[in-house]
Amino acid sequence: MSLYEIAQNQWKRAAELMELEPWITTILSEPKNEIRVNFPVLMDDGHYRLFKGYRVQHNNILGPYKGGIRYHPQVDIDEVKALASWMAFKCALTNLPLGGAKGGVEIDPKQHSNGELMRVTRRFAHALGENIGPDYDIPAPDVGTNSQTMVWMMDTHINSTSAHNRFAMRGVVTGKTLTCGGSLGRDKATAQGTVFTLESWAERRGFNFDGATFVVQGFGNAGSWTAKLLCEKGAKLLAASNSRGVVYNDKGIDPDALLAYLAKHRDPSGFPGAESIPDKQLWQIKADILVPAAFESQIDGSNAGDIDVKVIAEAANGPTTPAADNVLRDKGITIIPDILCNAGGVIVSYFEWVQNKNSEQWVLEEVDRKLRRLITTAFDEAEEAGKRYDLGQDTRTAVYIVALERMRRAYLDRGIFP
Ligand code: NAD
Repeated sequence: MSLYEIAQNQWKRAAELMELEPWITTILSEPKNEIRVNFPVLMDDGHYRLFKGYRVQHNNILGPYKGGIRYHPQVDIDEVKALASWMAFKCALTNLPLGGAKGGVEIDPKQHSNGELMRVTRRFAHALGENIGPDYDIPAPDVGTNSQTMVWMMDTHINSTSAHNRFAMRGVVTGKTLTCGGSLGRDKATAQGTVFTLESWAERRGFNFDGATFVVQGFGNAGSWTAKLLCEKGAKLLAASNSRGVVYNDKGIDPDALLAYLAKHRDPSGFPGAESIPDKQLWQIKADILVPAAFESQIDGSNAGDIDVKVIAEAANGPTTPAADNVLRDKGITIIPDILCNAGGVIVSYFEWVQNKNSEQWVLEEVDRKLRRLITTAFDEAEEAGKRYDLGQDTRTAVYIVALERMRRAYLDRGIFP
């Protein structure tokens, strides 16, 4: 199954159960727009290289398109389509007035200088042109991009518009640096949302984070912040990985020390606070919480049977294949599904967009308080939908029911033009 087929199967199971009107299913089955651009960029050594970029706009019935930009050598249209559709359902689930989109450039950012990355980003933003805009489609960071990337995109977009409208164009992207219109709390937002959803899960089970154990796959933005926040609650990080290696310590790993080490060495294998273990062993570690925070399809039929945890908090998008979903459900492991678990990123992106519109800067406590309210409401609504449809451990279908009910109401109210 392609990633887009996996994404479709997930929401279509919910659509069938709730007897979604077939015409709405038909509309949601394909993205509204698929934009592909090829653009030349000057490399540091004086030659020009052609790059391929994508922007897929899945749906905007609830508001402007919204979603990240990924820089990765394996980015392709199928992946971007899947990620765009997950964004649409994520925004609907968390009741944001936004639709869903995603973009990407086929590039390995680690192989390029800062200057090359800036020129790639500016040419990509220029190639997208009016396909993005603060009231039309609003990109954000994802794997391989960061606040600097977003500021370059914003600056390029601003400089392509009339001087009178420039300030209003700041909201064309979110996840910017603070000085350029970013929001407090955006850096940790995805992880903070993941931890809020874990707190909702823990409350119901009487689970205590103090002394609890967890494992993180993918020690990047989402993964390292989740580790920091869980450690602040007294939990112990047993193992962490990135694309180069996995480290383990049953006494616990200090996430700040690991981050400092990675800033210098990239590969965690030599980290003095833990031992290096083979990749496959990460999935076999007995812990309370597993946080996949790397890429799609990491938990599949080959390793799901090894997993021995109480809950999987999907900080990454699409980390679990349908085959693995079935195995984990049979084992009684709870999944906090991606479109709920990692929605903190887009929720705080939405806050940034609102702050830009109103020329405001909210304090961190306000950002966190509002994030907690939105994400725990979505958690409660999904739980209620699960009960209503008698879904048992099938939390994934429950979150799609909440999202689809919201989209359905909008489609029934508005109808189809003409
Ligand atoms: P990132 O680039 O900061 O981190 C990704 C990490 O995963 C890196 O440390 C990388 O080395 C590691 N990794 C890659 N392949 C791996 C492998 N095979 N095994 C172990 N580790 C591996 O990216 P991020 O922004 O933290 O995004 C991670 C996931 O979270 C993605 O699925 C992304 O779509 C999702 N997400 C991110 C945000 C956000 O705001 N950044 C929001 C929602 C969802």
